[in-house]
This record gives sequence, C-alpha cells and structure tokens, in this order.
Amino acid sequence: SVNHSDSEYFKSYGCLGVHELMIKDKPRTEAYKEFLEKNYRLIKEKIVLDVGAGSGILSLFAARSGAKKVYAVEASGAATVCQEIVNRNRYENVISVIHGRIEDIELPEKVDVIISEWMGFYLLHESMLDSVLFARDKWLKSDGIILPSHAAIYVCPVNMSEFCKEKFEFWEDVYGFDFTPFQEQNVAAHLQQPAVTTLKETQLLSSAQCLVKYDLKIVCLSDVQEIEEKKTFTITQGSILHGFAAWFDVIFSPGVCTKSNIVLKQGDGDITNGDTKDINLIGCEDVKDNSSHTELDNRLESEFIDKDTVLKDVNSVTLDTSPFAPETHWKQTVCFLPVTIAVEKDETIFCKFSLCQGDENKRHYNISLQMLESLEDTDEELETDDDDFD
Ligand code: SAH
Repeated sequence: SVNHSDSEYFKSYGCLGVHELMIKDKPRTEAYKEFLEKNYRLIKEKIVLDVGAGSGILSLFAARSGAKKVYAVEASGAATVCQEIVNRNRYENVISVIHGRIEDIELPEKVDVIISEWMGFYLLHESMLDSVLFARDKWLKSDGIILPSHAAIYVCPVNMSEFCKEKFEFWEDVYGFDFTPFQEQNVAAHLQQPAVTTLKETQLLSSAQCLVKYDLKIVCLSDVQEIEEKKTFTITQGSILHGFAAWFDVIFSPGVCTKSNIVLKQGDGDITNGDTKDINLIGCEDVKDNSSHTELDNRLESEFIDKDTVLKDVNSVTLDTSPFAPETHWKQTVCFLPVTIAVEKDETIFCKFSLCQGDENKRHYNISLQMLESLEDTDEELETDDDDFD
C-alpha cells in the first residue's frame, strides 16, 4: 500500500533535477559504468533488473554491455523520460521500462542480475534497500548476482569547530548588531539533526570503525531495519569532540574471493557464491588471465577445489564516500552530541550507536549515540535525538 510519505518520496524523484545531480556525480555513476564495462561477461546475454531505473542510465550501461533483456522499473514520473531516452538510444528492444513500484509490478521471468542505486545518506536514509531486498527475494534467480554486492557503514569521532563557528558565531555580529536569539534556535535545531557536510581529514579524531557490513546477496530486512553496535575509538589528536560522522562504501564484487581479484567460476558460466569465497588466494592477486596458472592451480588443488572449477578474474569496483575519497553528493553525515567533550591523544572512547527505521515514516531512521564509560557499560549518558532531515 502506498502511504503518504511514499507519494512524497516518489514525487521528489519525478523532478529531473535530482536525476541530473546523480548522473553528474562522477564517482557514483562511473563506479557502475566501470564495473559493467569491465565485467561485461557477467552481463552479456543475461536478464537484468534495474530497481529504480530513474533516468535509465544504469539500464543503458547494462544494455551496452550486451544484456539480453533489461527490466527498468521506476515508480516515479521519471519513467516517462526514461522510456524516451531508451527510445532515442534505440534500446527499446532490449530495455523494457515498467512504470510502477517494484513491490507491485510483475515480470515475465526471473532475472540473473539485479542492479540498483539505492543508497541514501549514511547508506540507509530513504530505506530504498528494503525494495531491493524485496526484488531480490521475488525476482532474482538463486544463482543470480546483485550489484552492488556489498555495503558497509563507517563511523568516526569528529571535530566540527569550523562548522559550528560558521553556523552559530555568525549571529554574534550581524552588521554590528547582536543577533544571538537566532543562534539559540540554530544550535538546538542543528544538534538534533544530522548535518550532511564534507569533512576534511583533519577533522577526524581517530581511525574510522566499521559499524555494519552487508553481503547484499544474503542480508535480511531485519538486519537493516535496526542496528545497535558499540564501538571503541583511540583518539589520534587532542581536540574537542562534537559528534560522530558516518559514511559508507559499496563494493561491486559478486562472488569474489576476499583479498583477491579472482573469482571462481563454475563450468556453466555462473558465478558461485558458495564456500569457495573463504579460500585465501593472497599472493594470486596479480594473475590476470587463466592460461598459465600453475601456482594457482596447485593452490586450488591443495584447497580441494573441484577440478571443473574455472578461474575467472572479476574486476571489482568500490564506490567510497569517505572523506579520503573524491566527493560525492552523499558527502558525510555528522550526528552531534548534546555537549562537546575534550579528548586527548591516545585516549580511548566508547560509543553505542543505534540506527532504527522510523515507525511513522520508514524512510527516516532514528539515530542515537551514547557515550559509554566502557564497552560493558549499559548506562545512558548522552543521547542525541531523532534524525528527521530531508
Ligand atoms: N538508477 C538511477 C536512479 C537512482 S535513484 C540512477 O542511478 O541514476 C533511485 C530511483 O529509484 C528513484 O528514481 C526512485 O523513484 C526509484 N525507486 C525507489 N524505490 C522504488 C520502488 N520501490 N519501486 C520502483 N522505483 C523505486
């Protein structure tokens, strides 16, 4: 059933400006393009489902990589433009544009590949992942692949002095007048709402910690609806702690062995997601074709890998929205503590993070931070309020 927040949600995606912003976000769009071009073998002759096709850009990349059929499903009014773009580029025989919610539409067949750009601020904002998981469970063949294949959220304590100065101190001298009543309003509002902003590396007070990691082929809805994790950080520079930043990365790496660019392919051409993933192929990363793999062959034999297993390299791609990577439209998200805390170099701080999908509006998350005395500590100390920004 379409609730009020959903009609607002899809209305916002009916505006072409949003799609322009996304298409022009180079690290974003080029991550998809690069993966689909380099790994066209995974796409060629395959049935692809693009969940939330928008302008159709990802469907077009898939079609250009030789997909047999692409179902471009889009709920918003952008579906009309998508169809027009598909026609203009003469892909109407390959790409079927379907105007509707993925939850409501029917497809004539199951698919080999799901592709989607569902990520929101701090990964989960907008909760579009719910729809992608729905699509996976209903339409993806059991040996199908999902792109991106993995996602992770990272958190890091941050100093926001400059940000606060700009936002709040401004009111202390407005053309020579004291405008601080504005400031009080501002401070309260800003502390309760996360800020989407670009951080400099110098604002990071520790190395980042991974909050959650998802294998999107197997993750379930409950794992994304509620997250509660305690994390420990070692402060790397004495400073004032204002809050915690969150960002994410997604990886396009279906069935790829960890620490290696090599994926094991079964004779029928389908990538396996099975137990072969755990095999340590460190040292074999640089193998680029499978003509002379003696060392690798030996390793595989010693690891009892089926003789029919054929090696195939997959060029995995990472889309990283950290402060260390080129800026994207997601920037980073900062949640403020209600008070600032002075921290010293080498000090250890503990924080409990909880992200919980909203009850009344599931497209928002309630985020709370709790500073703890230790990892065992269960007392509530400091808590920030709901995330409720658009
Ligand atoms: N794939 C495009 C657009 C990504 S934005 C690109 O990469 O540029 C996400 C799109 O998914 C939006 O256009 C939104 O309207 C659509 N969408 C979100 N949830 C959906 C759902 N449940 N069913 C169909 N479309 C959905």
